[in-house]
Amino acid sequence: MDRMAFQLPGGFVDDDGQVHDHVILSPLCGFSERMVAGRNGTPAPVLLTALLSRCIDKIGSIDQVTEGMVRRLLVGDRLFLLLKLREMTFGRNIQAVINCSFPDCRARADIDFATENIPITQSPQGSLWHRLQLSPAAGGNIVTFRLPNGEDQEMLTHLLDSNEDMAADKLLARCVESIDAVRPAMADIITLPPTAKAEIEQEMERLAPRISTSFEARCPVCDRSFTAAFDVQEFVMAELNTRLDLLLKEVHYLAFHYHWSEKEILGMTRQNRRRYIEVLSEEMERLNHA
Ligand SMILES: [Zn+2]
Repeated sequence: MDRMAFQLPGGFVDDDGQVHDHVILSPLCGFSERMVAGRNGTPAPVLLTALLSRCIDKIGSIDQVTEGMVRRLLVGDRLFLLLKLREMTFGRNIQAVINCSFPDCRARADIDFATENIPITQSPQGSLWHRLQLSPAAGGNIVTFRLPNGEDQEMLTHLLDSNEDMAADKLLARCVESIDAVRPAMADIITLPPTAKAEIEQEMERLAPRISTSFEARCPVCDRSFTAAFDVQEFVMAELNTRLDLLLKEVHYLAFHYHWSEKEILGMTRQNRRRYIEVLSEEMERLNHA
């Protein structure tokens, strides 16, 4: 499959304040798969940055896409691109295992759904900074902030597991540029009234592009509808995490028969690699029967 163009649900704001919302993606190749498979234990946001850096050819008019730019993409835009990479690599059909949410059923069920049914909230960005006037109850201050991006996720991923409140405060400290035109210190953020923190967080959520993390499912056993959780990032990363030994076997198989180099084989898209393996297998089968 060739490169494909997509429009980001949010948009990337460059250093000059210009918004770029078109991205050109290259399909995953064996090198990317080997990278993901070989980095068990790497925090998901760090791996996502590395993966997207390999596959994003262009953001708007920017040709030289650095890891730094990929980190500064909004959280929702990064997930959106991962979803598109998934479609380009494995297609649009997702097969997942879920548990029925009704306590009297809890049946495990295989479900099929298409990636285009995952709701995406578009939120075209106009600039990096947003302004919010807090309600009188929250202090009435004027807050200037940016939306959370991949770098925030990378920095806070460890803290999220151990201390969620501290992670939330650190995220605010990273994203809030000013309160009443003064840059806040970490201590100022920690001592903000809870209503003020909540209002800023709600406004961030309202303004950010989002990929839904749940969908409507119907239980095949009890036939009732419920909302099932679906974490795009976790699902696609696990799916990509082809066992390294399987990938090496595929490389060996193609190298052995076609005499291609490892570099040539890993440079292929997964789709092409699998296609050659299929053709080879059919050919071997035919020879065996002859
Ligand atoms: Zn059920």
